[in-house]
Amino acid sequence: MDRSYASRRQLLFQAAIMAGAALSPAAWTSAVAQTRLPDYPFKAGVASGEPLPDGVVLWTRLVADPQAMDAGLSPAPVRVGWEIAEDEGLKKVVRRGQVLAVAEAGHSVHVEVAGLKPDRAYWYRFTAAGHASPVGRTRTAPEPGAAVERLRIAYGSCQKWESGYYAAHAHLVKDDPDLIVFLGDYIYEKAATDEGVRKHPGVIAQDLASYRQRYAWYKADPNLQAAHAVAPWAVMWDDHEVSNDYGGDQDRSNPPPALFLKRRAAAYQAYYENMPLRRSTKPVGPNMQLYRTLDWGRLARLTLIDDRQYRARRSCDAQSKEKLIPAACAERTDPKRSMLGEQQESWLQAQFAATPARWNFLGQQTLVNEVITPDQRVSNDGWDGYAQTRRRILEGWRDHKVSNPVVLGGDVHCFFAGDLSLEPGGKPIASEFVGGSITSLGRSREVVGGMMIVNPQIKFGDGQTRGYGRVDLSKTACEVTFRGLENALLPDSPVRDLAKFVVEDGEAGLKRA
Ligand code: FE
Ligand code: CA
Repeated sequence: MDRSYASRRQLLFQAAIMAGAALSPAAWTSAVAQTRLPDYPFKAGVASGEPLPDGVVLWTRLVADPQAMDAGLSPAPVRVGWEIAEDEGLKKVVRRGQVLAVAEAGHSVHVEVAGLKPDRAYWYRFTAAGHASPVGRTRTAPEPGAAVERLRIAYGSCQKWESGYYAAHAHLVKDDPDLIVFLGDYIYEKAATDEGVRKHPGVIAQDLASYRQRYAWYKADPNLQAAHAVAPWAVMWDDHEVSNDYGGDQDRSNPPPALFLKRRAAAYQAYYENMPLRRSTKPVGPNMQLYRTLDWGRLARLTLIDDRQYRARRSCDAQSKEKLIPAACAERTDPKRSMLGEQQESWLQAQFAATPARWNFLGQQTLVNEVITPDQRVSNDGWDGYAQTRRRILEGWRDHKVSNPVVLGGDVHCFFAGDLSLEPGGKPIASEFVGGSITSLGRSREVVGGMMIVNPQIKFGDGQTRGYGRVDLSKTACEVTFRGLENALLPDSPVRDLAKFVVEDGEAGLKRA
């Protein structure tokens, strides 16, 4: 082959991969022969995310066989077309283009659309080799400073495949949210077992191919696909996207850190490939900056923080496989230990100092509130293992007079609502709402009941019901509804309002509604 042709071809490939940009038809023809695909390639559905006033990220990943380690695709690049329109029938297309889906990125596609109008719905779809994807709906955020009247957020976490069906996703679609926030444990990494109501193929996810396969399988679920297709998502991970209870460069099984970081790099790469994230989030080796903010006019700011990647080693008996440590252990209150890392903490404090929003949501993985067991122990996997980071956040809200801080969380497989204050029984600074789990199994009535007696700042707890949370926001109030499934073991379980709370503008502390 002519060398200049080869290098030109190489350049075009790189340009397309790096920019995800539209190339001229001639360039495309010389760069890639149109690939024939073995089967319908949109079996992972479509998604959108990271809404800005003028744009969103459109996502898909080509998957022809969700069970296969290679997703049923050859390593050849595939030309993917995309279009976004002002109407559901895709008649008024406002932007369109083509990108390359390459094997190095798991045949995923992240299109950053710009030039859209603020605060309105759009519809989009992808095409490849004569196939068309389902049509997804998304929306842009309102303009900065816009006096927005309302916002509806649905949020969830912890969707272990084998533990139940995704009826929660079907119901949150019917709630017609403006934004969906997912707070971690999107996949679980363990090998398939015969326990549970359904089984995914495959071994433990621990390298790039096996993580990719796990996402492909989870994403084949029609209810999860419907939830991605109804509104833009904003995502944060927790531990199971990598490994149970991991933090920094170690997990519960204490592998050599260098080995663990290799695994983390594969997991982060697969996470990026499978989420509607901006290219600026793309991981570099074992590092991926996922903490960020998302604004909804002047009404709300969502700050998503990463409490896994940068956290200090587990406090008090770091080698133990057991989470619970004595509450009296001094190391857990050492101010030098951070759950977020120094850089993220100072970034967060800067956000507090500058936020223009009336409602300030902190989206994070787990339960922030202090929980001491009846026998005076705490978990070293959560905020209680890093008590001074929590204190600095509460002080930051207080000192910067942050307007209406509200915490959303997941991880603990329970619904919890409570108030956060600096001292036991003190004045509430913020309220917290942990939105249950989509499927993952929780804790017994006895355990949750015991927790609530010892920790009266937690006003509501339910570890037996699966489901999701819904936030209805106006200028005057933040209403949070815990949506509980009757039975997550049933594909079409009904849902009900398990509990309702309200936080009023300018008045810290939740009330039952
Ligand atoms: Fe979980
Ligand atoms: Ca978790």
